[in-house]
Amino acid sequence: MSIRPVAELRPATPTVEGAGVKLHRAFGFHNPKELDPFLLFDDFRNERPEDFEKGFPWHPHRGIETITYVLSGTVTHADSLGNTGTLGAGSVQWMTAGSGIMHQEMPEGNASGQMHGFQLWGNLPASLKMTAPRYQDMEGSELPEIIDDDGTRVKVIIGEFWGRKSPVDGIAADPQYLDIQVPAGVKKTFRIDTYRRAFAYVFDGSGRFADASQPAGVLLEKEVRGEEVNIRDMSGDRTLVRFGTGDEVTVQAGPEGLRFLLISGAPIKEPVAWHGPIVMNRPEELRQAMADLRNGTFVKPAH
Ligand code: FE
Repeated sequence: MSIRPVAELRPATPTVEGAGVKLHRAFGFHNPKELDPFLLFDDFRNERPEDFEKGFPWHPHRGIETITYVLSGTVTHADSLGNTGTLGAGSVQWMTAGSGIMHQEMPEGNASGQMHGFQLWGNLPASLKMTAPRYQDMEGSELPEIIDDDGTRVKVIIGEFWGRKSPVDGIAADPQYLDIQVPAGVKKTFRIDTYRRAFAYVFDGSGRFADASQPAGVLLEKEVRGEEVNIRDMSGDRTLVRFGTGDEVTVQAGPEGLRFLLISGAPIKEPVAWHGPIVMNRPEELRQAMADLRNGTFVKPAH
């Protein structure tokens, strides 16, 4: 057993996207190797409708999968396959853009005008970049939620955890995506297989993630002696915690408890050629995508 070190703590950066949506970006358009297979993570938390209601009008995607998780408010979407729908609070949408999709995503606040949700981009390997697009919505009530004896709550958005499995599967990046609430003062360890790249995104409360390369036993022993341990402090508002290699993550919740997403996936380890919402392996594939957009052949006919 080895605790994953905290490689980096970073506040999410205010960013404007779509037709003028103010959001916070935890990572993206930076170094795609760093959190391979994940490319981008955006936090749409906003209390002013004028800052998000212009939304994300029709735009293309190719070569990736997008995973949208809504906490409050709604996102109404439509796409070039003829799908339309509204994602409500607690629901998740998994979209495989594959060979190409055009879609729009329009957020709307709840009764108090608040909107909160997240979008994660997972890369596709070369063998699946031009796969047929797929689109799937899942209601919050379909996602398993586990409450542990100490009050820790884990909602399994994607993947499997503590023996419970999300109905969303088949994503190339093989992600495990958990929404975790740890009560005040509780210390908790979560196993993450060593082969995965992992990050946490903290959005409520405060706490500390263990940052020890020493075995868990040493960490506990030091705590018993009341010594300072190698653990990173952070306050929760909008913080990315990027983990190094190991097979578990340990968190100590602060006085208000801590809520965070814990996300991991198997790295794809391929070259990345990235232009906006299109992510391929080679520059000539990007040029082909641009030519397809100009020629009206971006969305491939179903076969
Ligand atoms: Fe999109």
